[in-house]
Amino acid sequence: MAQLRLAGLAKRYDNGAHAVHEVNLDVEDGEFMVLVGPSGCGKSTTLRMVAGLEDPTEGRIFIGGQDVTDRAPAQRGVAMVFQSYALYPHMTVAQNMGFGLKMAGQSREQVEQAVRHAAQTLQLEALLQRKPRELSGGQRQRVAIGRAIVRQPQVFLFDEPLSNLDAALRTQMRVELSRLHERLRATIVYVTHDQVEAMTLGQRIAVFNQGRIEQVGTPMDLYAQPANRFVAGFLGSPRMNFLPVRVLPDGEGGWQLDAGLAGRLAWRAHGVRDPLSGAAVGVRPEHLQVMAVDDPQALQAQVELVEHLGDVVLVHCRLPGVEDPVTVKSPPERAAQLSRHEAVGLRPQTEHLLVFDAQGANLGR
Ligand code: ADP
Repeated sequence: MAQLRLAGLAKRYDNGAHAVHEVNLDVEDGEFMVLVGPSGCGKSTTLRMVAGLEDPTEGRIFIGGQDVTDRAPAQRGVAMVFQSYALYPHMTVAQNMGFGLKMAGQSREQVEQAVRHAAQTLQLEALLQRKPRELSGGQRQRVAIGRAIVRQPQVFLFDEPLSNLDAALRTQMRVELSRLHERLRATIVYVTHDQVEAMTLGQRIAVFNQGRIEQVGTPMDLYAQPANRFVAGFLGSPRMNFLPVRVLPDGEGGWQLDAGLAGRLAWRAHGVRDPLSGAAVGVRPEHLQVMAVDDPQALQAQVELVEHLGDVVLVHCRLPGVEDPVTVKSPPERAAQLSRHEAVGLRPQTEHLLVFDAQGANLGR
């Protein structure tokens, strides 16, 4: 296994699409790194450049300290697993897994041994003589992973490998992938648009937006201390609520958040020096509590919709003068009696409030 380094990587396609802008990223030896972001933000292009399937317009790629930018895909020590599996339909599972090694000139014994070993790791031993059409979606994906494992690459590249599977199978495969990573201690770069996949699989996550990396960090770092509004809004489900606020001095050396008609909140601010215009406060649904309407530390709101999900209740509210609805994630016993159009107070846990300036930067970091 090896370290991967992307240095100033950029890609402009012939049609003028500027897919990736100067990406710098270090993936440690044995690390599970997830590249996440909305569709079209440049994740796959970045991965394909690492694989050697696209030439970068600028920048260099280093694997294990070697500059591999000009090497052919097969000479880079990487193996890629695609969303579409790309299995050969007329070959058995064993032949699919061994094909790359056979082409590389390895002996029959070597190929058989490598396939057997990978099949053991992935619990595919009983399926080795089947054809892909005789397999479930999850099994096909395991074969595609097996084909990567037999090559003993320095770096595994995964491009949305679970997106063709149903929800239950995705959850199961997430657990399998985590176990596989533990067993192989492999360096993995994994592309997904699914923030739950990113949060559960990644040891670190790089959040992409419009061809750039917005932030790199552990899942909990990104969740608790997002660098900006984009990262804050992208990770977490339901997503973080944003309220337009004015930040005003409270007359006692502190600050107040003025949410207009919805009310004001006292706030112990760090990072704020001047009254701010165009700011927004960000608060996650689990950091809001539904209170009585006259609660002095709560913002005024009206219940719009109550969704009972069993273990939690999502309460969607309207705040006067605020365009977007605000969502509260509540334990069922606190929200069971709420009804539509009821006037309530929403009290944020102020230690979890984030304040973003007009450009979207998190002022608390
Ligand atoms: P993601 O993987 O994040 O969905 P991609 O890397 O596939 O994003 O695409 C990034 C941008 O580059 C998009 O605007 C996309 O339309 C464009 N793009 C991707 N592949 C090509 C290509 N082969 N030719 C031209 N433009 C492309």
